[in-house]
Amino acid sequence: MKILKIDHLGIAVSSIDDKKNFWTDALGLALEGTETIEEQKVTTAFLPVGESEVELLESTAVDGPIAKYIEKKGEGIQHVAFRVENIEQALAELKEKGIQLIDEKPRIGAGGAKIAFLHPKATSGVLVELCEK
Ligand code: ZN
Repeated sequence: MKILKIDHLGIAVSSIDDKKNFWTDALGLALEGTETIEEQKVTTAFLPVGESEVELLESTAVDGPIAKYIEKKGEGIQHVAFRVENIEQALAELKEKGIQLIDEKPRIGAGGAKIAFLHPKATSGVLVELCEK
């Protein structure tokens, strides 16, 4: 398995519209538009930061994973995403090492990237996303 870089930090917010100003106005990051992924009940907005990005995540439904996260823990960093060279290979390797996975197979996330999540039980409580673009 080869991890290429930290691809992005996923940050749960109650509303991208209401909360984007800190990132765009105070920090001066560019917001590259938003995308809704209905099946994951989330709207995302990516803001490039050098080689990596900040991903703002807003729930589209009260029972969505981001709404549940905010209900439990409040807004904040929800996941860390590592870009890998080959996601299928990475998942197979982690499974073989006994790492608990949320996604055994990649699904399609924002921007058409292949993504998969590892279980926080296996990662000291950090929700880790692997992505291949
Ligand atoms: Zn992400």
